[in-house]
Amino acid sequence: MNKNAKRPETEEGAVLFNVDPIIVKHHYEIDYLHSYAQDSPFFAGLAKGVLLGSRCTGCGYVYATPRGHCMECGTWTDWHPLPLAGRVHTYTTCHFGGEAFLKETPFTLILVEFDGVDTLFLSRLVGAEPEEVEIGMPVRARFRRNCTFKPTDVYFVPA
Ligand SMILES: [Zn+2]
Repeated sequence: MNKNAKRPETEEGAVLFNVDPIIVKHHYEIDYLHSYAQDSPFFAGLAKGVLLGSRCTGCGYVYATPRGHCMECGTWTDWHPLPLAGRVHTYTTCHFGGEAFLKETPFTLILVEFDGVDTLFLSRLVGAEPEEVEIGMPVRARFRRNCTFKPTDVYFVPA
C-alpha cells in the first residue's frame, strides 16, 4: 500500500447547502431488487389487463388489494378478479408528488369503489380536469400497454 497515493481531483467540487453544519450534495444511484413475493399475481394481472383483489375463504370479505389473510377473521384469502368499472368514492388533486410524477402535476388520485367489493382501490384518474371530478363519477380501469410491474400500470378514466 502506498501511503503517499493521492486521489485524483475533479473539477466538479461540491455543492454546499449549509456551512454549520456542512451539508453537501452528492448524486446517489443504485439498482434496487425486491420481490413482490405473494403479491406477484396482482402485478402479473396488471400486465394482462386484470385487476386482482383478495376474497376471504372464511367470511367472504372482499379486498380491492392483495391480502394474504383477512383482517376481519384472520383466514387465508384467495385471488378474486375485480370489476373493471367502478365509481369515485373520493379524490384529491396533487400539486406536488414524487420525482417520477412531478412533471405531471397537477394530477388526480381517486379511491375507487366497486360493486361487490368491501374496500377501496387507490389509483390515478386520467382524462378529467380536477374541477370535473365528482364523488360518484363512473370510472373504468385502463392498463399501460408496456407494463412496468408497478401499481401505476393501472389507472382509471371517466366511463
Ligand atoms: Zn374473513
